[in-house]
Amino acid sequence: MAETARTLSVTPPAEPAAPAWTPDQSAELYRVESWGDSFFYINEQGHAAVRPFGDERLGIDIVRLTEELERRRIGFPVLVRFQDVLQARVRMLNEAFITAIDEAGYGNRYNGVYPIKVNQLHEVVEEVIDAGRKYGMGLECGSKAELIACLPHLTDDGMLLVCNGVKDRTMLSLILSAQRLKLNVVPVMEKYAEFEALLSLAEAQGVVPVLGVRVRLATRGSGRWGESTGSRSKFGLSVPELMRLVRELERRGYQDSLALLHFHIGSQIADIQVLKRAIKEITQIYASLKQRGLGIRYIDCGGGLGVSYGAGHARADSGVNYGLQEYANAVVYAMKEVCDDQEVPTPIIVTESGRALTAHHSVLLVPVLEGSRRNTAEPVELPAEPHQSVESLAKILRNVRDPEQEPEELIEAYHDIEEVRIEARTLFSLGYLALDQLAAVEDLYWSIARDLYERLRAAELDPTPAEVLELEEKLTDRYLCNFSVFQSILDHWAIDQSFPILPIDRLDERPDRRAVIVDLTCDSDGKVSHYISALPDKTALPVHATDGDTPYYLGFFLMGAYQDIMGDTHNLFGRVAEVHVYADAEEPDNFWIERVIPGAAIHEMLAQVQYFPNDLNRRMSEIVKRKIDAGVIRPSVGMDILGAYTACFNDTTYCDVGGPGLSAHRERPA
Ligand SMILES: *Cc1c(COP(=O)(O)O)cnc(C)c1O
Repeated sequence: MAETARTLSVTPPAEPAAPAWTPDQSAELYRVESWGDSFFYINEQGHAAVRPFGDERLGIDIVRLTEELERRRIGFPVLVRFQDVLQARVRMLNEAFITAIDEAGYGNRYNGVYPIKVNQLHEVVEEVIDAGRKYGMGLECGSKAELIACLPHLTDDGMLLVCNGVKDRTMLSLILSAQRLKLNVVPVMEKYAEFEALLSLAEAQGVVPVLGVRVRLATRGSGRWGESTGSRSKFGLSVPELMRLVRELERRGYQDSLALLHFHIGSQIADIQVLKRAIKEITQIYASLKQRGLGIRYIDCGGGLGVSYGAGHARADSGVNYGLQEYANAVVYAMKEVCDDQEVPTPIIVTESGRALTAHHSVLLVPVLEGSRRNTAEPVELPAEPHQSVESLAKILRNVRDPEQEPEELIEAYHDIEEVRIEARTLFSLGYLALDQLAAVEDLYWSIARDLYERLRAAELDPTPAEVLELEEKLTDRYLCNFSVFQSILDHWAIDQSFPILPIDRLDERPDRRAVIVDLTCDSDGKVSHYISALPDKTALPVHATDGDTPYYLGFFLMGAYQDIMGDTHNLFGRVAEVHVYADAEEPDNFWIERVIPGAAIHEMLAQVQYFPNDLNRRMSEIVKRKIDAGVIRPSVGMDILGAYTACFNDTTYCDVGGPGLSAHRERPA
């Protein structure tokens, strides 16, 4: 074939018409049902969507919401809180216990408390209190600062506040004061010394304290947080210490002071059997003490009610083997069984479920800044006098595009291009190959690799040859995203937790690329290293090709528990912007935005590490002045530069794209 324009010879062929792809196939691919519960789904337009009430009543299209955020020029990434989801979770948890209690004929009630450490944001806490009011929900705090935040929210009579964590005298004293106000605040003794301190402070105030005890159970926890219980755990009183405490209360005639027994076997309880064993153990202790005449009213089963982050991943932590109702049944029936056996009245059941209440309600929307593609389909530019390596690759490319080629021949071609590439690199390092020739070799290599992969994948060989897996790995794209792993999904980095991630749009199109998501930080750990999907290989996310102009957003789901609150400021990336969304069927797109909280400004992040605008400005203007004096720049230019520098203090820490600048390119049928 004689060709004049050398670049044409290797221009990729027209893309074959993509096979039809449906939103249901995307739902299957991203395993939406395994983590979406009744909330998240993919709608008919191929958009990620949420049912904020957890039922069929109403859906919100997350793409429509994103467009609204773009219109309002809210800088991305944005954390969206679906306040109705939070309410729905509170309702579901309480209803599950009410159902279990009814069915079991359990003679007492359920009193959930919300552990604010899971998400202390004021609006989250208020929303939980609001939704929980009719169920008598309370709060749990684990530190002095959390106690200070919680106390003023005990507006309803009898609303329970459980105080866990290590308590100093100030904290104990404040708790006693709250008890004098007849607020239902129960400090849980984590150590015997804490109990002694409480007694002496109570004596000084002339009051009889109310207290609970965290018991160190013999039942070992399971999973990552398993060390929260067991006889060697960091927290709680051993049985001998508990008895010593009981005898001390009896000696003082304070039998009614002991109001609550507590245990906590860790977050994300993976195995419901472990929970049942722990409940039976603590209920036996409760029954013995009850028979002895102590006034205990509550058994507090701690947190740990698990959330499914998507089955199908190898790690046990991402899945739990029970649902909400099964959890409630397990607690209620196990307690009832022991109490019936021991003929003691059943206690009020307390749980401190945090993750299960908050995880679902927030979604992080992250723009892809660049789909840096290893395997671009750009035409390859060939040098005027192609080196032999270039010629042989160009020949292979033509062969590979011959539809008659058998899979075996394609695999052979792969071996060939590997060889040519290694040879070319050697020649280059010895000085025998010019840089432009090497560039052509690389370009051709990737073009061929991409074609080979497409052809071999389409051949659906079984078992999949190692060469195909190798190609897949090599051709994985890196999608640079406008966020920080350390700020927004700290647990992914710290404890390797998986979160469901998927494109929010184009889910009616086959996501035919695989990408690793990398963040803005200069840290090689700043990436997502495993994903929830139905693919056997979890190290890359199925995504669509992006053209760099049309915004392409990824949704990070189940972000509401812990991630919001533990964010770390690596590279000074700060809190992301946040919007609070309510569902409303009267609104055109079924939602309205109640509140927008801008992301942290650069000056706020700098202040955390002791840099302040005044000082920085002074230093910067000295440099500029010196340059003006030295005649390097004109004064007006110097002032412009200084002004631009100063203006940056109020910017957010993330890249200012993905907003209206890009939305102009967005084409969407009206
Ligand atoms: C962390 C913690 C919780 C919350 O646990 P979840 O797994 O989020 O439900 C509850 N109680 C105590 C004592 C905790 O330390």
